[in-house]
Amino acid sequence: MPISSVNPATSEVLRTFESLKDNELEEKLNRAAETFCASRGTTFAVRAPMMQRAAEILENEKNSLAKMMTLEMGKPIKAAVQEAEKCAWVCRYYSEHAEQYLADEVIGTTAAKSFVHFQPLGVVLAVMPWNFPFWQVFRFAAPALMAGNVGLLKHASNVPQCAVAIEDIFHRAGFAQGAFQTLLIGSDAVGKVLEDPRVAAATLTGSEAAGRSVASIAGKQIKKTVLELGGSDPFIVMPSANFEEAVTTAVKARTINNGQSCIAAKRFIVHEQIYEQFETQFVSAIKSLRIGDPLDDQVDIGPLATEQILNDLEEQVQVSVAAGAKILAGGQRAKLSGVFARGNFYEPTVLADIPKDSPAYADEIFGPVASLFRVGSIDEAIELANATTFGLGAAAWTKDAKERDRFVDEIEAGCVFINSMVASDPRLPFGGVKHSGYGRELGYFGIREFVNIKTVWIK
Ligand code: NAP
Repeated sequence: MPISSVNPATSEVLRTFESLKDNELEEKLNRAAETFCASRGTTFAVRAPMMQRAAEILENEKNSLAKMMTLEMGKPIKAAVQEAEKCAWVCRYYSEHAEQYLADEVIGTTAAKSFVHFQPLGVVLAVMPWNFPFWQVFRFAAPALMAGNVGLLKHASNVPQCAVAIEDIFHRAGFAQGAFQTLLIGSDAVGKVLEDPRVAAATLTGSEAAGRSVASIAGKQIKKTVLELGGSDPFIVMPSANFEEAVTTAVKARTINNGQSCIAAKRFIVHEQIYEQFETQFVSAIKSLRIGDPLDDQVDIGPLATEQILNDLEEQVQVSVAAGAKILAGGQRAKLSGVFARGNFYEPTVLADIPKDSPAYADEIFGPVASLFRVGSIDEAIELANATTFGLGAAAWTKDAKERDRFVDEIEAGCVFINSMVASDPRLPFGGVKHSGYGRELGYFGIREFVNIKTVWIK
């Protein structure tokens, strides 16, 4: 079946690609396995300059790469340029730190010498989403390749141009053809690749359903997985917070990437002492956002990445409103004219008075729709923050040290940001708990996910 690249702002088909035939997939799996065997002895000194070169390519070509991302999945162009820059950062970061992170660790025992030695696992399959089409891939690939693994990328079906461009960047940077390959396959072919004995492990960033499927297939094969799944992150604002900064950040945290970020703040939990003021300012700021052509750098909100996402979002809002939620802003598709009339645009939306059993209460809403909640105490805020099956990130705004410590201790999430929005950073581990997944990417923890942590004992 062909894989299509469609501009979500106009519905124009940009390019189509043929899916890999069985023999082509076989060739790529063989090449990956052979490359791993041939290159497992290479040193960090050999890999680091290639990763540096990948960073240079990303920086030099950030404008054209950004345009490709925007045309293919609709993110505002400024954010796409920043994404390319962030990918360059993660390449540089691991080219500089991988050796130190994977150096032997001596541990004193009764042995003459005992230590831990880290070795690459082999061919790692990366199943990736479209929302940060470069960043999600590079944050896996930079540490994995620096550790000596080889990568196979099954990217989301709506971003094939990005997938092909990423493979090309690694090859131009000097990595062997088999060190990083894109597999243009549908999700129905993932099981076959995962079950293949030449594949050692897998990482998936995406929805809970995809995570369950990949983890269960890999589980049967006893293969390591890392899962980065969805989230319904809380953003808590207490009376002592720097109010203006909290409101401005709240708007950005919800609408970044047209609202399609796993760590976007989705549920705004505000103390009753400041709730009215927060609601007024937040709604007014949301209403002032500019919707339109994502290639225009004055635009804040572009289209959703696919028509299916638009339909799902619309349904979540409609079901929540039918259950009793009140619309304070937006609440419907945005009607644009000209070539954009067929784009997947949705008005930035704010919902309040949200009933417990409606989607806006605790589900993941993947688009520019904010859920507002009023609470009377920190206990209530924490209870509501944790009242979701997800546990990816959380932001809490307070100047009170006791409150801060309680948020840090009691929120069930892979990360808690105080007086800031949640963001990933190459230096820090990133990942979730509960149904947001397991394992970590980035930092020192990320590079150790796809290595054999080998214990060595010498008498
Ligand atoms: P998705 O539908 O799960 O797709 C993600 C990837 O998984 C795509 O490559 C997709 O391929 C593949 N896939 C889908 N179903 C599969 C299955 N049953 N078996 C194997 N592979 C399968 O997710 P999405 O809509 O692209 O991305 C949005 C989701 O990703 C949200 O839930 C978001 O929160 C999450 N996400 C999490 C993080 C994080 O770091 N925790 C970061 C970004 C996004 P096809 O495109 O061919 O279907």
